[in-house]
Amino acid sequence: MDIPFLSLKDITGKYSEEIHNVVNRVIDSGWYLQGSENTAFEANYSRYIGTQYTIGVANGLDALIWILRAYIELGVISPGDEVIVPANTYIASILAITENRLVPVLIEPDINTYQIDDSRIEAAITKKTKAIMIVHLYGRCAYTEKVGQICKNYNLKLIEDNAQAHGCLFNGRKTGSLGDAAGHSFYPGKNLGALGDAGAVTTSDKKLANVVHSLANYGSSKKYVFQYLGRNSRLDEIQAAILAIKLQYLDEDNNLRKTVAKKYINGINNSKIILPNVMDYSNNVFHIFPIRTKGRDELQEYLAKNGIQTLIHYPIPPHKQQCYIEWNDKSFPITEQIHDEELSLPMSPMLTDNQIQYVIDTVNQW
Ligand SMILES: *Cc1c(COP(=O)(O)O)cnc(C)c1O
Repeated sequence: MDIPFLSLKDITGKYSEEIHNVVNRVIDSGWYLQGSENTAFEANYSRYIGTQYTIGVANGLDALIWILRAYIELGVISPGDEVIVPANTYIASILAITENRLVPVLIEPDINTYQIDDSRIEAAITKKTKAIMIVHLYGRCAYTEKVGQICKNYNLKLIEDNAQAHGCLFNGRKTGSLGDAAGHSFYPGKNLGALGDAGAVTTSDKKLANVVHSLANYGSSKKYVFQYLGRNSRLDEIQAAILAIKLQYLDEDNNLRKTVAKKYINGINNSKIILPNVMDYSNNVFHIFPIRTKGRDELQEYLAKNGIQTLIHYPIPPHKQQCYIEWNDKSFPITEQIHDEELSLPMSPMLTDNQIQYVIDTVNQW
């Protein structure tokens, strides 16, 4: 049996007719940017996430860049200030910080949850700390009461990187509505994915929303009047229309992912493998199903030989990357351990029972 890590063709195929219909509608409308499709998606997404505003932008990295940049424009954060961020995140979270000439302060994750270890945050706060960026990595909620309390006590902005966790809950509230602002990616492989690049900022802060909206549109909120040094970072009408269709099925698709995860967790009993430690299925939308083992590369090769495609999230931590050469000598043992041991099993709402069982049996026979 051949099982892809994630078949985007199958995922798109499920909604093929509706997607073709809306794409044709946009094509025939003659209006391709900053129109009614954006307005409609933004309103629906705000209602879904539980914020006052959504601003559609070009991609998830830009969403995070614009949030920090807007705080700089508003005088809340200044270049050179520090932003606390988990050391084991995808590079985009950190690029958004350095792109704004801010200083990332890397914090180790908890080895059981893979999320920022909130017991290590306070020791890292200095006079220059202005924000904490939490990342709901692998689709699991990274927010804790303690993170919220620290932000209040030290007057820090809480920014969520919600690229991997659309639809995830914390005590009934959606990730993306838990902090001051959140960046969302709709990269095709994300839980809510466009058919190309797309992203959004959600917030209930009206001033911030206005600045983000301007920055992503040349720094302009009125045609031919430019207030900020912005860029062109807009969300296409075609992508907004596709996202509005797929948003209607997001909860259903996330539930299918949870079903796959439950089957993996109940079925995999190989003592060499550490499964995700799931306390509560409401605060995890399983963007990724991460397992850990000392023999990661060997397991990956064995699974590949048996037709099962896996990925590593991620092979090299940000502090070991060439683009951050100044950190290459730093040591983050927990982050490094996760990068050495993590393997992501196939995860998709489209996996069949037979495919899931085949993955379980093959992993158990290793
Ligand atoms: C995908 C991703 C991003 C960036 O999104 P793009 O749309 O690819 O720019 C940011 N942060 C995390 C954690 C991601 O997984």
